[in-house]
Amino acid sequence: MRKIAVVGSGQAGLPLALGMLANGLDVTVATNRTPDDIRNGRVMSSQCMFDASLQIERDLGLNQWEDACPTVDGIGLTVPNPAAPHERLINWSARLHRPAQAVDQRVKMPAWLQQFERQGGRLLIEDVGIPELERLAKENELVIVAAGKSEIVKLFERDASRSAFDKPQRALALTYVNGLRPAQEYSRVAFNLIPGVGEYFVFPALTTSGPCDIMVFEGVPGGPMDCWRDVATPQAHLAQSLALLRTFLPWEAERAAHVELTDANGILAGSFAPTVRRPLATLPSGNIVFGLGDAVVLNDPITGQGSNSATKAARICLDAILAHGDQPYTREWMQQTFERFWVYGGQVVAWTNSLLRPPPPHVLNMLGAAGSCPSLASAIANGFNNPPDYSPWWFEAEACEQLVAQHMANSSRAAA
Ligand SMILES: Cc1cc2nc3c(=O)[nH]c(=O)nc-3n(C[C@H](O)[C@H](O)[C@H](O)COP(=O)(O)OP(=O)(O)OC[C@H]3O[C@@H](n4cnc5c(N)ncnc54)[C@H](O)[C@@H]3O)c2cc1C
Repeated sequence: MRKIAVVGSGQAGLPLALGMLANGLDVTVATNRTPDDIRNGRVMSSQCMFDASLQIERDLGLNQWEDACPTVDGIGLTVPNPAAPHERLINWSARLHRPAQAVDQRVKMPAWLQQFERQGGRLLIEDVGIPELERLAKENELVIVAAGKSEIVKLFERDASRSAFDKPQRALALTYVNGLRPAQEYSRVAFNLIPGVGEYFVFPALTTSGPCDIMVFEGVPGGPMDCWRDVATPQAHLAQSLALLRTFLPWEAERAAHVELTDANGILAGSFAPTVRRPLATLPSGNIVFGLGDAVVLNDPITGQGSNSATKAARICLDAILAHGDQPYTREWMQQTFERFWVYGGQVVAWTNSLLRPPPPHVLNMLGAAGSCPSLASAIANGFNNPPDYSPWWFEAEACEQLVAQHMANSSRAAA
């Protein structure tokens, strides 16, 4: 039986570990937090996942919360007028072909860890450093490091050719709330883009106490939404969130008039530089370990892709392991497995990074045109499920103009 160890019990590590276990492999998970630590700790993400990623979970039997979790049925975009902030320059929404869902990782990961042990997996609670990695590498045929943004992932060298930034591009904050007024008509990720200030998006989710809404703030560094450093208490964090809405997005402030925090741990603030790392790291002994998920491809949350990409990377890795039979896990196998993911993941990175920069005129024009063209709005909304669909038109002015013209012509034909 093949012996494989996974370091980390997040959205990359656990679906992979549970998938390997279900296929009869001998699997160890080494992670630094117990199920109770996670359940009783701080929120870590807004973790909105789109249908293709949810399908991977369904296929692995990891969709326990599908009935309990509110669905996210669409995506909306609003851009306030910088000259008159109470007016909306752009305001449209479109339905997703299939719903998205966001299950608090404090709900998911403890349950999956317990499922892993119940199904015969070996769980080690330890903070893995180099000595532990050496031990795991000696005892296993393959060690996969899915340790997120932690110190240990610095073992994987930053790939400067694939990393567009060396500094954080947004000041991030999360606020989990109850009592938000639902969006009209259908639930959605209500995405507000405030030029020069940052982004705010909000959508329904499932947390430890039941359904809730998650507010995500993405502040341009040094701007008015980069304002979390001196916020000392959960109540002050909520007050700061609401003050931002009142100042920049009055329609969102109205929806939030009666919100309260889900719990004192339903808040987060921080920042990190989006980074791509090389997928292999060599330990002092010469053994090689393989990186997965945020450990090697870390995106800014602006497009809500990290959990989605981690799930897709886990699936690709699982399939590559199962297809490899009894052959050794060589450096070449690791590199090829990563490159197979990068065909997809590289396009997610390019699209996500494009949203961190001021939008070029063709993108602005397209986002505006979508307001009077439902099929174009639908194409933009549904790309979140599979960002390679944005290529080439998101990136190339000519292809974008053609696409917009095509959609506009189709919608005027339909209207005639
Ligand atoms: C504010 C914010 C909002 C987000 N919103 C979304 C969203 O809406 N949609 C989306 O798709 N993505 C979102 N993401 C990104 C998403 O949460 C991550 O991409 C995803 O959780 C990555 O999973 P992972 O398993 O790679 O890493 P993690 O979830 O970080 O898991 C790492 C694991 O490794 C363990 N670990 C760390 N160090 C060690 C060590 N030394 N030894 C042992 N164990 C260790 C940790 O305890 C943890 O279990 C968001 C992220 C943030 C910060």
